Amino acid sequence: MIGDPVLLDRRRVRVLTLNAALGPLDYRVPQDMAVEAGSIVLAPLGPRQLAGVVWEADRLPSEEVGDNRLRPLLGAYNLPPLKPALRRLIEWTADYYMAPPAAVLRMALASASALDGARSVTEYRPTGVIPPRMTPQRQQALDRLAGRQGLVRELAAIADVSDAVIRGLVNAGAIEAVEVTIDNTYPLPDPAFDQPALSAEQGQVAATLRAAVAARSFQPFLLDGVTGSGKTEVYFEAVAEALAAGRQTLVLLPEIALTEPFLKRFEARFGCAPVAWHSDLRSSQRRRAWRAIVRGEAKVVVGARSSLFLPYADLGLIVVDEAHESSFKQEDGVLYHARDTAVMRARFEEIPVILASATPAIETRQQVTLGHYKELKLPARFGGAQMPDIAAIDMLQDPPQRGRWLAPALVKALTETLERKEQALLFLNRRGYAPLTLCRTCGHRFQCPNCTAWMVEHRLTARLACHHCGHGIPPPPACPECGEAESLVACGPGVERIADEVTALFPEARTAIVTSDTLWSPARTAEFVNRMEAGEIDIVIGTQLVTKGYHFPNLTLVGVVDADLGLSGGDLRAAERSYQQIAQVAGRAGRAAKPGRVLVQTREPNAPVIRALVGGDADGFYAAETEARRMAAAPPFGRFAGIIISSEDGDRARRMAEAIGRAAPSQEGISVFGPAPAPLGMLRGRHRHRLLVHARRSAGTQEFIRTWLDLVAPDPKVRIAVDVDPYNFL
Ligand code: ADP
Ligand code: ZN
Repeated sequence: MIGDPVLLDRRRVRVLTLNAALGPLDYRVPQDMAVEAGSIVLAPLGPRQLAGVVWEADRLPSEEVGDNRLRPLLGAYNLPPLKPALRRLIEWTADYYMAPPAAVLRMALASASALDGARSVTEYRPTGVIPPRMTPQRQQALDRLAGRQGLVRELAAIADVSDAVIRGLVNAGAIEAVEVTIDNTYPLPDPAFDQPALSAEQGQVAATLRAAVAARSFQPFLLDGVTGSGKTEVYFEAVAEALAAGRQTLVLLPEIALTEPFLKRFEARFGCAPVAWHSDLRSSQRRRAWRAIVRGEAKVVVGARSSLFLPYADLGLIVVDEAHESSFKQEDGVLYHARDTAVMRARFEEIPVILASATPAIETRQQVTLGHYKELKLPARFGGAQMPDIAAIDMLQDPPQRGRWLAPALVKALTETLERKEQALLFLNRRGYAPLTLCRTCGHRFQCPNCTAWMVEHRLTARLACHHCGHGIPPPPACPECGEAESLVACGPGVERIADEVTALFPEARTAIVTSDTLWSPARTAEFVNRMEAGEIDIVIGTQLVTKGYHFPNLTLVGVVDADLGLSGGDLRAAERSYQQIAQVAGRAGRAAKPGRVLVQTREPNAPVIRALVGGDADGFYAAETEARRMAAAPPFGRFAGIIISSEDGDRARRMAEAIGRAAPSQEGISVFGPAPAPLGMLRGRHRHRLLVHARRSAGTQEFIRTWLDLVAPDPKVRIAVDVDPYNFL
């Protein structure tokens, strides 16, 4: 090889591509290409081309692949390189949550099309023209696409028809093409647009937060204020400070549905909407947002979990609103917790992070106790509004009529609220009409064929549906088991059934059901908010979707239909979650001048959760819960990790679970439980088994699991997922 002149000038880089099955690979940099660590490049991989990021630049030749066998990179995108802080975050996330780095990188790059320099894209939208030939499919498409716009693929997905149906409608003139410019800049929020006069208490907290943003160093805050105390108003001051410094802010919200009211509120304060990032974006919107984020033009981004990994050019502040919400835990793909990962990002970026909550997680409170997070309190509602009065209704003492779910005391309160022309909210965390359908004659129960779950009846859409896999059937006229007609009965209530009961009791009342079935898009949420604000709804019946974020001044009564529901699951956070959920929904009542009232239906009025809610003793409840966790060495005092083994083949899943169980090494401070069939033994057609690792905090849990799982021969038909710090034990 001596004297091969071409070799001399070569540079070698290590690239992390988007292929999750592979780690970083070495490539050669062609002479005319300029790259550095973080550059986004296009790399050859077998016959394919894949985007990737230069992870290490200027590597020395290694033994494994000689320089002369390295393939050259195909190109470098004209985009700023990923900054070291983000690369560290990706490495940390992959390492801590035991996920492939490429899977984490994918969240940062978000969509391959965003990398392209294209300035416009062709989208389609309905014209209102009725096609000469109408088919059921075409009708369905036109019904569902009213007011929508997007790529053919996106429209087809929304309408649940094939691409060909959409194209047919384009040819028939019922859908037209529109050219959308995607590099339009976003308007800049104005920090002084409509600054509120803060109360003395709010002002102090805001000043601390502003100073932290100005200091440009890592500092985690718990902004702990009762519902309606002005947490949002106060953290907006920190956002204003970041804006004034020209830096970016990320506000993480637990659900897409909350984005819409947030956008309105933000616009009122800063004069224009922030940039939204969530899974409901069209690909053109996603591309526009991503490019504005990476160039630093998107000054404030509000988003769901995944916006945490985006390549912000100059991040100055992260806010996690409703930080206690368990929906910040991602339950598929990379199993990360966005709240905890947000704190890590803030640390790598050297910026402040604000966790805002009226009911902080025990984990977060413990960080305050340890002195790691600074707690800022807002103990009173703004403007003298009182905290609502919470009372329990003992369902054994004061039961509803047979076949009904609302106790007389709650019905009376509803009557009074309607008479005063105020609004009420009934909370039940169950979608649909009834959670179980059974045959009165033979006892047959409708179970999902793919999951260990009952089929939930939805009357609004006339279906029995599985909430795990989406499988659905029309309700059969007769029992499929015994053939008896009209023998099927609905058991238990869902929100639709409560809505029926409300209509039977108050035929004049205008009701709205609020669940992910009815508020499935930001537009639907906006419509709901407008109708509530205009007083066009008297009684809302909703799931956890209505428990947070909303501020309806005329809403004065909240009824919790079944406070015991959340306690039945029995996992380590069940009581805490129940407390948070009920405290949050209670917080919707009486947020303005009119006092609020909360009635909690329960069969266990003496349960600690209910007593804490009624007595207003949050501190006592948290102290007892925290102590119980300490005794059990449960999080945050110890650590759990779940190992979930699944396969379409039940035997193989079981054999793998047993093999993993047998291979468990022993290590001081770590115990392994299981394997056992998972409570959710079958999910989407896969048989599931679980093991649970319980470790001392300092025990090196991930390393232990990595070493352990390496001992077991893989089976291509079996999937093994590790869930570090699990929230779900099913
Ligand atoms: P939280 O986020 O703690 O639930 P919000 O920030 O939503 O509280 O505040 C509750 C209500 O009080 C909102 O309508 C908000 O606009 C209003 N509010 C809070 N602080 C102020 C203030 N300083 N000036 C005017 N309105 C305020
Ligand atoms: Zn199912």
